[in-house]
Amino acid sequence: MRIVVDLNRCQGYAQCAFLAPEVFFLRGDEALGYRPRVSDDQRERVGRAVAACPVQAISAGPAAGADVD
Ligand code: SF4
Repeated sequence: MRIVVDLNRCQGYAQCAFLAPEVFFLRGDEALGYRPRVSDDQRERVGRAVAACPVQAISAGPAAGADVD
């Protein structure tokens, strides 16, 4: 599955990094890093991160970011 985070929207709250630490991580104080492709066994955790993001910055799914390659 593909993941895209709108880093212009992301506020570095880190809920995603708490809920899916294999996928999302903080670099330094507030910069978010993430893996753009993860295996489907991360789907549930990523779904929780998507739901928890307070600014709806995370898109995830087979076609997420298909237009931004
Ligand atoms: S939960 Fe949303 S705002 Fe917070 S770090 Fe993750 S993507 Fe950014």
